[in-house]
Amino acid sequence: MTVMATSPSGGPLCDARTQLRQAVEILGYDEGTYDMLATSRREVSVSVPLRRDDGRIEVLVGHRVQHNFSRGPAKGGLRFGPGVDLDEVRALAMWMTWKCALVDLPYGGAKGGIAIDPRSSSMAELERVTRRYTSEIAPVIGPDQDIPAPDVGTDERVMAWMLDTYSVGIGRTAPAVVTGKPIALGGSLGRASATSRGVADITVAALAHRGRDVRGARIAVQGFGKVGRDAARFLHEAGARIVAVSDVDGAVIALEGLDVPALVAHAAVAGTVVGFAGADPLEPAELLELELDVLIPAAVEGVIHEGNARRVRAAIVVEGANGPTTSEADRILRERDVLVVPDILANSGGVIVSYFEWAQANQTYRWSEAEVERRLRERMTIAWHAVVDSAARRDVSLRLAATTLAVERVTEAHRLRGLYP
Ligand code: GLU
Repeated sequence: MTVMATSPSGGPLCDARTQLRQAVEILGYDEGTYDMLATSRREVSVSVPLRRDDGRIEVLVGHRVQHNFSRGPAKGGLRFGPGVDLDEVRALAMWMTWKCALVDLPYGGAKGGIAIDPRSSSMAELERVTRRYTSEIAPVIGPDQDIPAPDVGTDERVMAWMLDTYSVGIGRTAPAVVTGKPIALGGSLGRASATSRGVADITVAALAHRGRDVRGARIAVQGFGKVGRDAARFLHEAGARIVAVSDVDGAVIALEGLDVPALVAHAAVAGTVVGFAGADPLEPAELLELELDVLIPAAVEGVIHEGNARRVRAAIVVEGANGPTTSEADRILRERDVLVVPDILANSGGVIVSYFEWAQANQTYRWSEAEVERRLRERMTIAWHAVVDSAARRDVSLRLAATTLAVERVTEAHRLRGLYP
């Protein structure tokens, strides 16, 4: 996989715990509080036997990690990927806790993962895996307990299978058990593009913060999936120059700016950005080192690391992915005055509209797309200003400011509830 540059750091869980450690130090909390927040509240690992289409049985591993419930039910996506492991899911679950707290959703954090390559599995195989995994974790999920959603490698179809499997198990339809569902099953208008919309809006805000205009800004996007593709489209519509884009198969570059709608049309047919006639091929690793106003890593963890952070020549990094920058790289980028807008703020649009979808399911009432987008913008704007103000006040990075705000909220909820017994 070309975008998955190997990170020399200790992996995402190490990065997540380093960020937590720094926030706990700023807040002056004790070691016991750190330990409690560094540890998942509940972890379920299940074996998922899959009958392949050719009749062979393969036994896969699936996880659901619930990091925290202090502020409400756990919330977070389900990931399919060949390299998914428990430590990665633990880190992603912890980041969901901070993300939900930062944008003030009444949720804790969770994440799920199954070690399967969705690209080399048939639709029927993916359906069997999803249904078996859902039935295995059914005792710990539910509308008031833990609400899955799409993440890397999963989509609204997977959510439809989860909803169906769970609902059949309890004998009634439970629309609030997952979010990111198809609209016809109670999905929210505006959910599919919510993460990208948020990433694009935050990019415009970050550019303004650095005294730059989005019009003509040079932007590169790593990842052309659910997040990267529409973020590129929205920023292109806002007048930015999208100069390079990559996916798992390769990268393309056009310094005068890519024709993004034409690239989207090409990728829809070809299944990759590679081969797009309106651009030149590019070595994917070079995308991270282009001279840019904004670099948007929107793929996987650990792609900006100690080995390449000094070569990043973007003024701003907006983290569309979860955990794309290792702790070591974070330090280097700050030293070099690169503004990093952290994942828990930059890509929070997805879970914000997931919350709206859940609220609509609980209300059995559908909101208009305009209403969803208005409320999304309102929450993200409040969070952006809170993070920027707190970073200035404490003289810390946006990431540390954001993590500190979130950790403070989660700890406050925990303190009010008290430790049982
Ligand atoms: N997978 C997305 C994330 O990492 C969305 C999670 C959700 O909507 O629950 O934020």
